[in-house]
Amino acid sequence: MKSGRRPLIAANWKMNGLKADGTALAGAVAERAKAAGTALAADILICPPATLIAPVGDVLAGSPVWLGGQDCSPETSGAFTGDIAAAMLRDLGCRAVITGHSERRAGHRETNGQVRAKTSAALAQGLVAIVCVGETAAERDAGQALDVVGARLLHSVPDEAKAASLVVAYEPVWAIGTGRVPTLAEIEAMHRHIRTLLADKLSDGADVRILYGGSVKASNAREILAIADVDGALVGGASLKADEFWGIVEVAPTR
Ligand code: PEP
Repeated sequence: MKSGRRPLIAANWKMNGLKADGTALAGAVAERAKAAGTALAADILICPPATLIAPVGDVLAGSPVWLGGQDCSPETSGAFTGDIAAAMLRDLGCRAVITGHSERRAGHRETNGQVRAKTSAALAQGLVAIVCVGETAAERDAGQALDVVGARLLHSVPDEAKAASLVVAYEPVWAIGTGRVPTLAEIEAMHRHIRTLLADKLSDGADVRILYGGSVKASNAREILAIADVDGALVGGASLKADEFWGIVEVAPTR
C-alpha cells in the first residue's frame, strides 16, 4: 500500500571531514543524484560538520541534494559562544537540521526540553527538523524500549510541529556506530508505536516521516527500508563513502 511519504535518506557526517574530502564526497553524491534525475525515489540530505556547511552548500547548489545542520541553538542570536542559530543555517542554504542526536543528548547532556526548544527554533526558521529518539541497551534489556522512546518523543516534539517540516529518527543508542541492528520485527514495532503516538499528538501525524538510524549500510538497507512505517534512514558511518551511501539511496522504495 502506498503511504505517500517520500523516503528521506539523510547523511550525518558527524565531526568528520576537511574541506577537500568533504567537498569531494558531496560532489560525488550530487553527481549521482543529478544523473538519476526523476528516477530518484528518495529525498537526499547531507549534514556536514558546521565548518563544511558553506563549501558543501556550494557543491550541492543546482543538485537535488538538500543541505542540513547537525544541531542548532534554541536561541535566535546573542552571547552564546560556539553555538549556531537556526537562522544562520537557513542563511547558508540549509533546508534541515538534526536535533536531539543521542551523541548530543549523552555528550552535551541535552534534555528533552532543550531538544524541543531547538526543534521549535528550527521550525520557526522554516527548517525541517529531524528529531532523534532512541533507547539505550540497558533500557531495551529491561523491556522499556517502547515506553522510554515514546516519552522522549512526546517531550521532544513541539506541539506546533507539522508533518511537512517534522521528521522523526528512531535511533537505538546501542546500534549507532556499532554494527548491531535491531531485528526487523523490533524496528517495525517501534516505528508503529511512534506512528501511533504522532497520530495522537499531531493532526497530520500520519504523514510525518519516521527514519530508522543505527548501522544502516548498503547491504542491510533494502530490508529495513521495506518496513511499512520506515520512511528512510539516518546514516552515519556509511554516509562517509559515496558508493556505500548511494547503495542505500538506490534501494529506497518508491512510495
Ligand atoms: C547516526 O549517527 O545517526 C548513525 C545512525 O550512525 P551509524 O550509521 O554510524 O550507526
